[in-house]
This record gives sequence, structure tokens and C-alpha cells, in this order.
Amino acid sequence: MIKIQILIDSAVKTRQFTAYLISAILVFTTAIGHAESSTLLDNTSFSRSRIKIFRVRPGESTSDILSRLGSNEALKVVSANKDKTHMMVITTDKPKEFIGFSSSPLGLSSPSHFGRRFNRYTHKFNMMNLVSVQGTITSSMEEAAKQAKLPEPLIDQLAQIFAWDIDFATNLHPGDRFTVVYEKGGFNGTDDIVATEFVNRGKAYRAVRYIDKEGYANYYTPEGNALQKAFLTTPVDFARISSHFSSSRRHPVLNRIRAHKGVDYAARTGTPVKATGNGEVTFLGRKGGYGQAIILRHGDRYETVYAHLSGYKTGLREGSTVRQGEVIGYVGQTGLATGPHLHYEFRIDGIHQNPLTAQVSNSIPVKSVAMVDFKSQIQDPLAKLNLTKANSLFAKIYSPYN
Ligand SMILES: [Zn+2]
Repeated sequence: MIKIQILIDSAVKTRQFTAYLISAILVFTTAIGHAESSTLLDNTSFSRSRIKIFRVRPGESTSDILSRLGSNEALKVVSANKDKTHMMVITTDKPKEFIGFSSSPLGLSSPSHFGRRFNRYTHKFNMMNLVSVQGTITSSMEEAAKQAKLPEPLIDQLAQIFAWDIDFATNLHPGDRFTVVYEKGGFNGTDDIVATEFVNRGKAYRAVRYIDKEGYANYYTPEGNALQKAFLTTPVDFARISSHFSSSRRHPVLNRIRAHKGVDYAARTGTPVKATGNGEVTFLGRKGGYGQAIILRHGDRYETVYAHLSGYKTGLREGSTVRQGEVIGYVGQTGLATGPHLHYEFRIDGIHQNPLTAQVSNSIPVKSVAMVDFKSQIQDPLAKLNLTKANSLFAKIYSPYN
């Protein structure tokens, strides 16, 4: 016999995350012994919690269970308590089979904790409060967003999601249209885009959000390719290239001909320097002519070097993990430099390459091990996106995704 338990807690929002973990431990304990669980319950701050127990017939699938829970009782509970925290957990008599799902996207990352702690997490549902809107640009994006009732912060989010493919500042056209599925009060408590399609000059781009096991949210194509490229082209914003990659140039300080194995960006001292890709700090400190430098390793093959820095990001040290676009240091002129600039190197398999022309795999796909998780996570948002499109006039307009 399998038992399903629904645990609804009304813990305060700021303590949401802890609450989830405690709930999970609580329910897991319940699976082992009910006597223990009731004691545990009394001794925790879950005095306002309610637990419902359902009997499940052998052989029932998760969706069978859900439908039999009574006209989506689970969904009803969720919508009735959307401002509070909820959790629904299914346990089975076999402790190895632990099934949990949650009404909050926080639950999306917490199962990985279940996984690490208990190694029993097998499947989850994500019941998100999804809202969909559609718009067509006639004059400006802002105008179209207003008409579509797309919340203002989501315009920026949309622009960021498609930053690699669509220039929202200069390349939007009348007739461009968008469908946005967003989560109300989602990840981090804000509205967040979970699935979207943007048709720019007749070309359709799609994005879905995926929160990985580490809890990082990124946008991918529905096929699982990151929209973000593996490396940013430049590590400093609004900087001018003062010296290109070259096999022979006269060194400004040494006054000798030698290869320039990087690209120089002239910028004011103190200008933030960003990691061009996700990676790990393998060197941070003084290094001869480089002055104060940082070396990052990105996976097995790539390395980037940032030299002549005036300083490092506080707390950054060898072994630290950095994310693409994260500020790691500041432009300076330490080491052999005639003026403040960033010397940036890009190495593939230990060999210096011109960062501006190097052939790098375009995007980082979802790791194949995470593909099942990815598919299940994007399922609802994607279905909602398709439904929204199907119910609209846009369905009649050509899109490769129709
Ligand atoms: Zn240089």
C-alpha cells in the first residue's frame, strides 16, 4: 500500500527555503514511522501545518493518483493559498521511491537537496502560477508591452533572454510579435518568464527557463541549447581595443618585436572586468609582466587570462567559481603597461587564440544527465505557450514552431 501525504505549511515567506527542507525531512521521517512523525511535528514550528493522508491503489501512476485526488484537489489547494508556502509530497512504502512536488519554483531546486540528502527523489511536478500574454509591435516595444499587459520588468527580461539573437535597442520592427508565459511571484518571489517566443522580422526564437541542480536559472531553446553563448566577446563594457592579437608587434614598454598573445582594451582604471564564461579561478595574484592577473579555467579545454588589474573582486580567490558576466576584477596598469588597460587572453588546449575569432562551440547544451529533468521542468510552460498561440490569431501566422 502506498500512502500519499499532503503537507501544507504556512511558514513565513522569508523562511520558505528552510521550511521546504524541514518539510521534506518531516515527511521522509513519516515514511519510516508514523509515531516518530507525530512527535516530530509537535516539536517543530509546524503547529499550523496540516497533513492529509490518501490511500493509493497499487499500480497507480502519478497522474492516476493526481486525478483521483479529486478534481485536482492539489491544484485547488495551491490556488487557495498562493501567497503562502505549500508543499505536497508523495511517499511510498519503499523508502527508495520518494516522489515530491511543490507549488513553488523553490521546490525546483530543493529536490536536488532531497537528492543529495536522501537520494530518494525520483520525480516532481511543478505547479506554477502561469500567466500568458501576447503582443505585436506597432510603434515601440514599451507600447506593445503595455497593451499586452506584460509587466514592465519583463520587457528587460525578454531583452536579456534574447540578447544574443535580437537587438532590442535597434532591431525591432513593426509586426514583430511576442508570446510570453511568465510565473507570477515565482523564483526569488518576482515575476519571471518561463517560456517565450519572439518573432523578429519573420524569424521565430523560442526560450524556456531551466533551473539546474545548483539552483541557477538559465534560458535554453526547447531542444536544450543555451541561448547564452559559452563566452562573451569582450570582458569590458564600452572599452576600445587598443591592441589586437598579433604574432609580431613592437612591445610598447620593452620596445622589442614580439607576439601579442591577447587583445588589449583601453579603459579607465577601476572599470569592471567580467568573466567571459562560467569557470573556476585557477590563478589570482601577481605574475611578472602581467601584473595583477586572474586566470580562469572553463571546462577541460578553455582558459581566459585577465591582466594588469588594479584590483580583484572582494572575496575572490583561487578555487572560486565564477559565472559568465560576473565582475572578477578592475582595469588597472600593474605589470608592464604604459596606461590603464585590460590585457585579455584566450587559450584553447593551452594554445593562445585570438579571442575575437576563435572557433568556440556556440552554446552550452543542457548536460545530457539533466535532460530528463529539463524536459519535465519545461513541459508545463511550453504547453501553456503552445496553447496561448493556438488560441490566438497568431496561430494563423507562419511560425516554424506552429
Ligand atoms: Zn596586451
